[in-house]
Amino acid sequence: MNPVLSSSAREKQSENNSEIPFFDQSDTFRRLWPEIRENCGRVLDDGKFSHGSMVEEFERELERWTGARHVVGVNSGTDALVLLLRAAGLRPGDEVIVPAYTFVATATAVVHAGGVPVFADIEPHGHGIDPRSVERAITERTRAVMPVHLFDRLADMEGVGEVARAHGLTVLEDSAEAIGMRSDGRHAGLLGAGGVLSFFPAKTLGAVGDAGALLTDDDAIAETARMIRHHGRSGRTLADFPGISNPTVVTGCNSKMDDLQAAVLLTKLAHLDADIERRAELSRRYDERLRGLPGVRAVPGGAPRIPGQERVIYVHLIEVDGRDALAAHLAAAGIGTEVYYPRPLHLQPCFSHLGHRPGDLPRAEEVCRSALALPLHADLTDAQVDRVCDEIERFLTGGTR
Ligand SMILES: *Cc1c(COP(=O)(O)O)cnc(C)c1O
Repeated sequence: MNPVLSSSAREKQSENNSEIPFFDQSDTFRRLWPEIRENCGRVLDDGKFSHGSMVEEFERELERWTGARHVVGVNSGTDALVLLLRAAGLRPGDEVIVPAYTFVATATAVVHAGGVPVFADIEPHGHGIDPRSVERAITERTRAVMPVHLFDRLADMEGVGEVARAHGLTVLEDSAEAIGMRSDGRHAGLLGAGGVLSFFPAKTLGAVGDAGALLTDDDAIAETARMIRHHGRSGRTLADFPGISNPTVVTGCNSKMDDLQAAVLLTKLAHLDADIERRAELSRRYDERLRGLPGVRAVPGGAPRIPGQERVIYVHLIEVDGRDALAAHLAAAGIGTEVYYPRPLHLQPCFSHLGHRPGDLPRAEEVCRSALALPLHADLTDAQVDRVCDEIERFLTGGTR
């Protein structure tokens, strides 16, 4: 599509086109294009596409925005998790407790870092790891616990922290989705030893390709992660590959962030507060229409308010009876949805060797059957939200189209 389409031509186009994709980055890109072009131009004019100054500029700006002592830019949220686990000193065979209801990378990162994921259930009325289930999963090999902040709110960090302290576990956060979420002013990822951010295009702060970052207040973790992302070296010289003082982390990899991605992210970061506010507005609009409809069991706005917690609606996820039929109805009406997540990790074929059976982690399994994510991004219009709600209401109240 033409990025410089006039706004009236655009309105006409969207009126004629009633399809509402689950996610669409093109409007955001058009809105910010002049600024993005300028920052990308700086990278291209400079001629330094790797090891340029843009990644550093973005890292410092994100440190300011999050309050993190260190931001280490890498090439994806998944790599950020692997680097975080390795830099935090995970040893081969160490067990890391993770929720069974999350994106697969939470658990595969543990495997890539040489550890063993151990699955725990999620809270009865939320999507975060259940501290009581964490306690039950602890063995003499448990080294760390990695809560995940999914969709719109933080996991129960107080509950997890208590269990971790009692058993001497390191707390690392999969805060890939949690940019802007804070507890008593502390940003997600800084509530334990370290965390990550993903800048996958569909995330709240999305790049135009893959990118991620590690966040920590711990100097040693940051320094180690900076070395690992760059073949294990600290400078630019090819003479020395010192390895890392932790004996199990001797090798580096190549996981640098691209300067062009940093240029896009730096531009979008300046608009992030406004985008987050717009997401909240759209989410409230959904909630007003959908809460209380027959079959709707949970909406984001129904979650209990936790004092001191700043939420960010990354995904507007509802729990609803007959989820698959509703998703099919919406698809037929030209409305995209996403199932986060269709299958809990303890029942995924790639983890079958861990020996789990259906029924082991019932809340995770139940949410996989009822969760449906609705279209949400900062450039979605009120009218689009209304149309999605009309279709959902029509379906749930048995009205005919
Ligand atoms: C997106 C995501 C990741 C992975 O991030 P990528 O940048 O896609 O590698 C990890 N964990 C969670 C919970 C995520 O949502």
